[in-house]
Amino acid sequence: MKDYREVLKSYNLKATPQRMYMIDEIEKSGHIDIDNLYESLKNIFPYISLATVYKNINSMIDNGFLTEVKIPKHKARYELSKDSHAHLFCTKCGKLEDVKIDDAWISNNISKESGYNITNTLITFEGVCPPCQKKESR
Ligand SMILES: [Zn+2]
Ligand SMILES: [Zn+2]
Repeated sequence: MKDYREVLKSYNLKATPQRMYMIDEIEKSGHIDIDNLYESLKNIFPYISLATVYKNINSMIDNGFLTEVKIPKHKARYELSKDSHAHLFCTKCGKLEDVKIDDAWISNNISKESGYNITNTLITFEGVCPPCQKKESR
């Protein structure tokens, strides 16, 4: 497991063993929902409660260390904050992938047209991933 103490410190977050393990799980999976995260944490910390997991997640979101990815009609997934990007969501298998997008260009134009001061961009494309397409055509 990587040592996340320094990076947690840089976000003013205490490096508890639970948090370190959470981050490791999130990094390994890329994007994880609360149920899967909770399940894997229970293997290591049998007495951890769902409320504790939520509390930790929320404080890491507040500090900007984690980002919540909202998916319509599905549970949110969590990821380590990185450069802004859009998401591809497979409606068949639930896979969530990152996709690079020039969102600065989009928000600049929207801002110009609407007069809004854009502070956040959330873009998620829904569709069917290549492996699921293959299964369908069989
Ligand atoms: Zn799929
Ligand atoms: Zn992402």
